[in-house]
Amino acid sequence: MSFFEIMDPAFGKFVLGNAPVKQIATGFDWVEGPVWFGDMNCLLFSDIPNNRIMRWIPGLGTSVFREPSNFSNGHTRDRQGRLVSCEHGGRRVTRTEYDGSISIVADSYQGKRLNSPNDVIVASDGAIWFTDPHYGIATDYEGYRSEQELPCNVYRVDPSGSMQAVLTDFNCPNGLAFSPDETKLYVADTGRMHGGDPQHIRVFNVGENWRLSGGEVFHVISPGCADGMRLDSDGNLWSSAADGVHCIAPDGHLMGKILVPETVSNLCFGGRGKHKLFMTGTTSVYAISLNRSGAL
Ligand code: MG
Repeated sequence: MSFFEIMDPAFGKFVLGNAPVKQIATGFDWVEGPVWFGDMNCLLFSDIPNNRIMRWIPGLGTSVFREPSNFSNGHTRDRQGRLVSCEHGGRRVTRTEYDGSISIVADSYQGKRLNSPNDVIVASDGAIWFTDPHYGIATDYEGYRSEQELPCNVYRVDPSGSMQAVLTDFNCPNGLAFSPDETKLYVADTGRMHGGDPQHIRVFNVGENWRLSGGEVFHVISPGCADGMRLDSDGNLWSSAADGVHCIAPDGHLMGKILVPETVSNLCFGGRGKHKLFMTGTTSVYAISLNRSGAL
């Protein structure tokens, strides 16, 4: 069987003919938020409905890293290497300090509680950007069902801790990522899961003082949605989809797909040289080696 589909001949150079899509861990309910720790040689990821963060170590397998996790979803590392996490249950973004204690990065805006932070990135100035759709408070499956107090915005918390809603015209913002040179910000809108809701990625120009402009539709994912995405070092965007991971060129055209047997929620680059793509896919985590390396 083939593990990929090539739409643009250039994508043929991104993949390796003999490298498989390999299931490296399974038995979960809805996995999300993969993040690679090269210094620890491990991958962390969320098993959201089971309220835990798992750790996978090559050659050793999977164990529980944190339980309960406050129904954590997306993760990233900040510029000091610390784990930054979105929590549905805590309705907050947290940072895990070097001593293991947990600090709150954001849990409210203008006196109202956040909804359920979903995905998070850290810019080169140390600011933390995250999306806050309502998914984690819509049911008791991935958090605690509760009232929505704020619109589904995108926020930036600057290094001094001051917080601003930077994008307020989304239905449900979800995955987000900067281009490697940070001149572009990509943000997915995955809608309220009703028919006809947007399922696309928008692109913003990042200007002076991180001011955003533009925001046109960059690419429509089909089938599925851009729940999570990452950029490679050349600025190609790799997005989750219902049939695997789609690779989209900076001009917005679909270059090719990595085919995965389960719906993919999110992904990250890791391993030696960041040449390995880790993909969280419903009940399992998959990995493939690529002839490509990830951006941060
Ligand atoms: Mg997501």
